[in-house]
Amino acid sequence: MAVREVENIFADILDRAKVLDPVNTRKWFEELRVVHLSGGSLEIGCPDEATAAFLQDNCKSSFTRAAQQITGHLVTISFNVNSHKKSAPLAQHSESRFKSHPDYTFDNFVVGPSNRLAHASCVAVSQSPGNTYNPLFLYGNSGLGKTHLLHAVCSEAQKKFDTVVIQLLSCENFVNRFIRAIEEGNLAGFQSQFRTVDTLVIDDIQFLREREQSQEEFFHTFNALYNNGKQIILSADCSPAEIPSLEERLTSRFNWGLVARIDPPSYETRVAIVQKKAHLRGLSICDEIAEYIARKVHANIRELEGALTTICAVATTTSKQITLELAQMALDGQIESAARHISITDIIEVVTSHFDVRLTDLQSKKRSQSVTLPRQICMYLARNLTRHSLEEIGGHLGGRDHTTVMHACSKIGQAKDSEPQMHVLLGELTKQITQVPQA
Ligand code: ADP
Ligand code: MG
Repeated sequence: MAVREVENIFADILDRAKVLDPVNTRKWFEELRVVHLSGGSLEIGCPDEATAAFLQDNCKSSFTRAAQQITGHLVTISFNVNSHKKSAPLAQHSESRFKSHPDYTFDNFVVGPSNRLAHASCVAVSQSPGNTYNPLFLYGNSGLGKTHLLHAVCSEAQKKFDTVVIQLLSCENFVNRFIRAIEEGNLAGFQSQFRTVDTLVIDDIQFLREREQSQEEFFHTFNALYNNGKQIILSADCSPAEIPSLEERLTSRFNWGLVARIDPPSYETRVAIVQKKAHLRGLSICDEIAEYIARKVHANIRELEGALTTICAVATTTSKQITLELAQMALDGQIESAARHISITDIIEVVTSHFDVRLTDLQSKKRSQSVTLPRQICMYLARNLTRHSLEEIGGHLGGRDHTTVMHACSKIGQAKDSEPQMHVLLGELTKQITQVPQA
C-alpha cells in the first residue's frame, strides 16, 4: 500500500476510535503516527511512554474495534514510542518505578484558591525533592485532585532529574505487597525496594488505618527514607489527626513537613477545569456551556468531568454539535431522568438472578468464569445505564478499582460487537432492568 493510503486508513481508524470511545479521546491523538500497517497488524507510534501506556490501558479495545470496522479484518494493535523522536534512553526509565498518567501534569492542573497551597508545594518539591517540604502531606475529599498532583510531581521530578528513583503507589498496593512479601518470606526484598528510593509517594494513606503491622512497616520505611534526606509525599482524604486508629508516632511524623488541604473548587476554577478537560479531549466548548456545567456540579471534579462525558456521549450518539441546548438536554432532560431511575442494585438483581449467582460472589475475589462474566456484565451495564463513575461501580462490586471496571466494560463491549449471543443477552438484561418496578 502507498504511504498516503496507509495514512488515510489510519486517520479513519482514529476517527472511528474517537466515536467508539469519546471518554478516552485526547487531543494528542493528533500526534500519533502509523509506523506499520499490514498483514493484520497495526503499529502505532506514540509521542512518549506515558501516552503509550495510556493507550495500552484505556484504548486498546476501541482501537482494535475501530481498525476491524475500517479495514474489515481482524487487526492486532501495538503502541510504541515513536522511534524517530528522541526519547530518553530506556535504561534510564527502567530505574523509574512509577507509571505516569499523561493527563495528570502540572500543565493540565487548574490552580485556584482551593488548591493553591497544595499546588505550590508540589511544584516546589518537584524542583528539589528532599529539600523543601518533607514529608509533604496533601489531603482533601475525593475527586479534588490529589492523585493528579502526585503524578504531576513525579513526572516533573523525573523529567528534571532523570536518574532519580521514584516509587508512586496507592497505599492499598503498598499493604498488599507487604502482605505478599510476608507470605513469600521475602520481607528483605520488600524493604530494600522501598527503603532505597529517592522519592516515595503513597496515595490514600488513610488505608493504613487499623492495619497495625503495615503501620509498623511503614513507620520504619518512613524513618529510613527521612533520615537519608529522601522525599516522602502522602495523600489522604482527611488530615493526619483525623485518620482513625493511626498510631500517634505516624500522625506526628505526617505533620513534620507541610500539610496542605485541598478544598472544593470555586465556581471560576470549575469553569476553567471544564475548559481544560474539554481541550484535553480535543473539544472546544463555548464559555456558556462551561459555565452551565460548572453551575450544575459543585463538589467533585470527577463529577464535573462526568457531566462533560455525558454531554459528549449524547452529542456523539445523536451526531449533533455540542450546544447549550444539547448540554441542558443531556444533563437535565430525558436522558438523565431515564438513567437516574436505574440503580446499580437493579442491575445486580437482574444479572445475579439470570446467572444464578449471589451478590457476595460478585463482590468476592473469585475469578472463575461463572463469577467473572456476570461481574463484568454488571460493570458494563452499570456504566451504560447509570451515571455512576468507574470508581463507584467498582465500589459496588467488591471495591475494584477503575481500571478493572474499564477493562470489563471494553471486554463486554467488544464481545457484544463480535458475538451475537452476547448482543442478545445484553439486550434482554437491559430490557429486564429497565422494567424493574421503581421503588
Ligand atoms: P482525588 O485523588 O483527590 O480523589 P483525582 O486526582 O483523582 O482526585 O482527580 C479527579 C479528577 O479531577 C481527575 O481527572 C483530575 O485530573 C481532575 N482534577 C482535579 N483537580 C483538578 C484541577 N485543579 N485541574 C484540573 N483537573 C483536576
Ligand atoms: Mg485519588
